[in-house]
Amino acid sequence: MTVDSTETIGVSFARIDPDEAALHRLDPPNDHCCTVSQELLERADLDVGQQLRIGRADERRVEIREEERSDAFRDAIYTVAGAHARPDRADLRLTDGGLERIGIADPAAARGFVRPLAVHPSYDSPEAAKRHDEFVEFLVNGDDAVESSDSARTLVVAPHGGYVEYGTDRQAAAVATRLDALAWVCAGFSDGGAFDRWHVTSTAIHPRSFPALQRILEAGADRNRPFNRALALHGYGGDETLVGGTSDASTRAAVAEAIEARIPAHRVRARGIPPEYDGTAPENVLNRLAPEGRTIQLEQPKAVRTDEESREAIVDAVCEVFGERLER
Ligand SMILES: [Zn+2]
Repeated sequence: MTVDSTETIGVSFARIDPDEAALHRLDPPNDHCCTVSQELLERADLDVGQQLRIGRADERRVEIREEERSDAFRDAIYTVAGAHARPDRADLRLTDGGLERIGIADPAAARGFVRPLAVHPSYDSPEAAKRHDEFVEFLVNGDDAVESSDSARTLVVAPHGGYVEYGTDRQAAAVATRLDALAWVCAGFSDGGAFDRWHVTSTAIHPRSFPALQRILEAGADRNRPFNRALALHGYGGDETLVGGTSDASTRAAVAEAIEARIPAHRVRARGIPPEYDGTAPENVLNRLAPEGRTIQLEQPKAVRTDEESREAIVDAVCEVFGERLER
């Protein structure tokens, strides 16, 4: 038996034991991971590595102690790090920090739900996400482009828009509109905690948990790669913009120069980027969507993303370079 991806499944919890937790991948961090019972893994047709939405059960049916409510999220995204087989009757095991994210102090007494998606099953706009404190994915230049995209098309991705990495979703939409490209965008909102609640590291993003992304990947499967070139827009906590990705040094330098020409006071780095920000990992969602040597990843400080003029200047710069070099 499999479950529909929009279905929610009632679950019980346990605390993960430290030995088991130590086996988990460090990225995403352990508090953003869970293990799933072998029984639930099979029943719900889940994959190790995919993202789940996990939350406390409806408060009308299950009494939750006041101290457990506090300012925890009603649900959050977790990545399945593995399956557990021992018969402790717990469907999910989380770290202490992982339980805390959704306000569970006593896992043995808590009940919750799981849904095999990262994104909301029906909302598909940043407006809906903002109104409901939710996390959504959507396409710009949408479904027709997925079906008909020829191999020369450009793809723009912004997996961390909304309040997760502010401004990146708007930039992605603007670039896609200007270049007549397809954009895959996620936007997450949550009072005071969008990053902690919704951020999934680019190398961990699993298409089964992002149906629109899965459609894009499947549409290109026949041609091996659906897109000729791809751009990822991100934000980070540093103070210079980093131009990474698998594109050659001259293309990355051209992007850096185009940004510097428009924002002279701002520092832009296209070489010597720390590995965690350089956008070259094959597992990075960007590099699963376009060929090696054809991707650019921008990591941008908060200052340029929150200032509309700078944010737009970076859009201009990227469009100039992509427009010029697109057919090469
Ligand atoms: Zn990001």
